[in-house]
Amino acid sequence: STVKETHSFETEAKQILDMMIYSVYSNKDIFLRELISNASDALDKLHLESLTDHGLSEYAKDPFIRIVRDEQDRNLSVSDNGIGMDKDEIVSYIGTIAKSGTKEFLDRLKEKREGDAAEMLIGQFGVGFYSAFMVADRVTLLTRKAGSEKAWRWESSGDGTYTLEEADRPIPGTTVTLHLKESDPENGMKDYTSEWVIREIVRTYSDFVSYPIKMQVEKPKDDNGKVLEDETLNSMKALWMRQEDEVTDEEYRQFYRHVAHDWQDPLARIVFSTEGVNEMHGILFIPPKAPYDMFMREGRKGIDLYVKRVFIMDDCDEILPGYLRFVKGVVDSEDLSLNISREILQQDRQVRLIRKSVARKTLQTLKKMLKEDREKYLKFWDEFGVVLKEGLIQGEGEEETVKKLCLFSSTDSERLTTLDEYVDRMPEGQDVIHYITGPSVEVLRKSPHIESLLERGEEVLLLADPVDEMWVQGASFRDKELRSVAKIAVDEENDEARKDLGGLLDFIKDSLKEEIKDVRVSSRLTSSPACLVGDEDDITPQMERIMKAMGQ
Ligand code: ADP
Ligand code: MG
Repeated sequence: STVKETHSFETEAKQILDMMIYSVYSNKDIFLRELISNASDALDKLHLESLTDHGLSEYAKDPFIRIVRDEQDRNLSVSDNGIGMDKDEIVSYIGTIAKSGTKEFLDRLKEKREGDAAEMLIGQFGVGFYSAFMVADRVTLLTRKAGSEKAWRWESSGDGTYTLEEADRPIPGTTVTLHLKESDPENGMKDYTSEWVIREIVRTYSDFVSYPIKMQVEKPKDDNGKVLEDETLNSMKALWMRQEDEVTDEEYRQFYRHVAHDWQDPLARIVFSTEGVNEMHGILFIPPKAPYDMFMREGRKGIDLYVKRVFIMDDCDEILPGYLRFVKGVVDSEDLSLNISREILQQDRQVRLIRKSVARKTLQTLKKMLKEDREKYLKFWDEFGVVLKEGLIQGEGEEETVKKLCLFSSTDSERLTTLDEYVDRMPEGQDVIHYITGPSVEVLRKSPHIESLLERGEEVLLLADPVDEMWVQGASFRDKELRSVAKIAVDEENDEARKDLGGLLDFIKDSLKEEIKDVRVSSRLTSSPACLVGDEDDITPQMERIMKAMGQ
């Protein structure tokens, strides 16, 4: 029974393998993430099957992943006691690429630079296993399917063929052993037999894998001796998979510090799970302070993306609308491909759904905070209000919700008001929301334009953020139009007054004819003698200033 068969890789599989082998992709570390995630998948599968097939339950009792380093022979292996594979499965899962469209995709890829190829491949297909060939010149896979007595050894040097023979394995599961290429740090080829290199990669990519990833590490013993001891390298804390009431505030705090690289406590947390077509789990945080780089294009965006507990990428701005870029945390999707790349993220429908959910959950939390804890909300607003306000323009369908969350200065008091509160205060007979824009709230409070409105008991919003000028154009709230005070049509001219002041008006108009269109009598002013107004369809003075600043 020791016949060694030689098989050829299917054409596409060979092509992909070649691309991996000759890849100059610098982030080779991800091979370990891929092998660990395969092991984790295999443990998931065994667990699931053991639920219905009780014959398997004894194998599913003590799941683990083990990494073994052999510095002498430059070998690295990743083992699991998961579901394993039978012979047919090895041939079809490892020797072929079952994804449709593979050939077309590969043809297009040929035109790309080789450096991108590996990332694109890993992104496009489930070819995680092949990424082992980025770092290994020979890969061996020893596997035994749970429920079977037979084990198989698969081996390939990535040269277009692989061998397959029967083998022994005391328990079901899979061991993938890599014979590592020479270290070449300049090309991203680290010494993957080093304890610290492995520790670091596991910590970075696989910390939240829900099975223990064990490895023998050197521990000091007695005086100066050393012993090898088992250590679990990952924390296994997929906090987001646990019910919120089963996680302590302290655990959430520590987790925030970890994901946000912050030493402070978060202002708020958002724990959520969705089921069904777009299943995901997440923990998001609103930090207590704005980071220095919030307005820099390249600033860190806060969300880490996981797929089924496996870390995929940080700063994933595809799942976070720009106006919420202050949010930090983790989103873990059950539906995305583990190998999704940034390039694919941008077009993925599932990703857009995630982005929408993330926005909704965040806005819901803010809404609640505004209603229940005004003081806290004011802190939030102080730090991030200007960013949230961008959602009035680029709200991706949530503009109306954002509008309800915005706070404004107004003539009513020194406190900030919401639009809802403003409308609730509107006196009988007032049918529009008045606002005035300008460089600062202090200046606006003194503006002559608002005098007569104040006299009438009507309130004016004082808008001094640059973004205000943009969203306010044509805006309305609760069916009330927002109207600029500086643009209000001048009242019907008073004939009497016109006659009395005719000479003066003509004189002013004549003297300022380069600067103004007309001079009129108005009853809007109560204590100031004159003010400048624009026509209904003119741009506002503040907009004029912005456009000047932009060189128009
Ligand atoms: P993907 O994980 O996206 O399916 P991979 O190239 O990583 O793609 O793996 C291909 C297939 O090989 C897996 O779907 C699985 O069926 C099988 N496989 C790989 N590693 C293991 C393992 N440790 N245990 C069981 N099956 C595995
Ligand atoms: Mg995989």
